[in-house]
Amino acid sequence: MKKIVKHDQDVTKQHNKQMILDIIKKQRPISRAEITKITKMSATSIGRFVSELCEEGFIRETNLTSSGLGRKAVMLDIEPGAIYSIGVDIEKKRISFGLMDFSETVTVYRRVDYQAQKSTPEETAELICCEIRAMVEEQNLPSEKVIGIGIGVPGVINYEQGIVQFSATLGWKNVAFAKMIEAELQIKTVIDNDLKVKILSEYLYGSAKGSNKTALIGIGTGIGSALIINGEVFRGGSNSAGELGHTTLDPNGNLCDCGKRGCLQTYVDENSLIMEARRVSEITDVRQVYAAARNNERWAKEIVWRTALYIGITINNIVCMYNPDTVILSGELIENYREIVDLVEEHSEQVIWEPFRGTFKVIPSELRGDGIVMGAGALAMQHFAPLAGRLSEE
Ligand SMILES: [Zn+2]
Repeated sequence: MKKIVKHDQDVTKQHNKQMILDIIKKQRPISRAEITKITKMSATSIGRFVSELCEEGFIRETNLTSSGLGRKAVMLDIEPGAIYSIGVDIEKKRISFGLMDFSETVTVYRRVDYQAQKSTPEETAELICCEIRAMVEEQNLPSEKVIGIGIGVPGVINYEQGIVQFSATLGWKNVAFAKMIEAELQIKTVIDNDLKVKILSEYLYGSAKGSNKTALIGIGTGIGSALIINGEVFRGGSNSAGELGHTTLDPNGNLCDCGKRGCLQTYVDENSLIMEARRVSEITDVRQVYAAARNNERWAKEIVWRTALYIGITINNIVCMYNPDTVILSGELIENYREIVDLVEEHSEQVIWEPFRGTFKVIPSELRGDGIVMGAGALAMQHFAPLAGRLSEE
């Protein structure tokens, strides 16, 4: 019996300490008095927890003092160098890395041109480990300060077991990728679908800050979506919620590489744009279509116009299903031609069901290409930080 009581006390203590650290992290710099006010705990308890967190190196006293009426008080801030995580973004043609400190700032970026599809998963894991080792060494970081690695991967990901179940972009099937990295570096690793990582990032640091229900649509080679509700990524039964690309738009439509006809991605992704453009012009890259559209060439403008229409239809479908307050458009197809967001807006009268018009905003991704690196770093922080701000776990 005694043991149980002791255990409960420990849990409560840990919980309170965590809460105080979370408050400092979110509202820094902040004084002990302000924390006392927020938590309604005694000043003595706050003092004790704050000293412990200082000793453990998670927080520090700053030179700042509180302004305004009353006694001046020393302000507390977190210690950015307490721990680090590493965010990785595996894309079709490159891999990006970021070192994230405890203040959740990515202090170092690194990018490598690399086509994972042309190599084995083992070779890709090897390259990632080499780059991470180099990055940590360059910063002279003791390896125990790096508490985890987060990786955003395009495809269907078994997030709990760290397995890439299927990735058309990388050509992988059932690859236990997290384990490969862990075995090599001895650093805990979490992997997740790239768009789920990206929406977490937009929620924490970008366009979706302060939103309760955000949908993100990613369009590049393929189209997908992700949803975040009250700070939590909506995963569905097997972490595949949001796989929009193969929703059927027209059962008699174009043949998709999945074997079905009329999938959404045969209307709206980069390949479909290129295919359409090739009927009139010898192009190989979407950027050429965009350049022609900017140059007022009619064929290109029509293709872009049509793409915007299908993006509008996609938004309508998502809005009807989930009723979000924000829809973020992201991915290469958007980021290389931001004008398309205005074109989508022009279609909205036609494609958005009336009761939903004006109930949500459509915005381009704020973090662009860095979103996944930042989100993956944050994911690792949430998962592996010994005592860090957890979003909405537990
Ligand atoms: Zn399909």
